[in-house]
Amino acid sequence: MRWSQVLFSQGFGARRECEGLIVSGFVRHDGIVIDDPDAEVATDGLVFEVEGRVWPFHQHALVMLHKPAGYECSQKPGAYPSVMSLLPVPLRLRGGKKGGAADGVQPVGRLDADTTGLLLLTDDGALLHKLTSPKHKVPKVYELTVADPVTEVAIDKLLAGVVLNDDPKPVRAAACVQTGEHTLTLTITEGKYHQIKRMLGAVGNRVTALHRSSIGALALPADLAPGQWRWIDATQRAALI
Ligand code: URA
Repeated sequence: MRWSQVLFSQGFGARRECEGLIVSGFVRHDGIVIDDPDAEVATDGLVFEVEGRVWPFHQHALVMLHKPAGYECSQKPGAYPSVMSLLPVPLRLRGGKKGGAADGVQPVGRLDADTTGLLLLTDDGALLHKLTSPKHKVPKVYELTVADPVTEVAIDKLLAGVVLNDDPKPVRAAACVQTGEHTLTLTITEGKYHQIKRMLGAVGNRVTALHRSSIGALALPADLAPGQWRWIDATQRAALI
């Protein structure tokens, strides 16, 4: 692939801007300045630097973010800033056009503004579909704090299935374990709107804090601080689905 195409595909701006970065000497590979936008390079395992920032080439981007509270997953946020603002610009511009809503990575499902934890973002439409489709039953594990003490009856109901107000078909927890008087770990395989909060509402309780700790076999790494993001490697991707 030509160097100008490499930069363009990875979200470093319009074609002209990518050429500009190259001819201005801002792009390095193996410590050597790349000054010819038309020079060819193999993209397999390619790692390069743009203005000092190390960037691994990815055909498709797949990253994890430790979502902090106070951020919305919507592309056009209302009351809070978007989670996209926590990502570097190239991840938001991937795909070519600058600033277009459909460009760049998108959140895989949504977490509420007050929910924290593991959020995946990708520009791989097929993967996004697989991870969000109820058909694939990807388990999502949440740590909950609730207003009233957890009861065995409530746990049994959550496991048996509760009816939410928008669908007569019950939704059930794939797993539900009490971890303290006011805390539990709950696993679901769908991703309905406010699902966990509504499920707890259906058993007469109220969620006061919600944190997603894993998706599939991928757990939020302990060393990924709130607001930080990281590339997902091939092994972690395989653990997802
Ligand atoms: N269920 C909810 O109610 N909120 C979330 O953010 C995620 C799952």
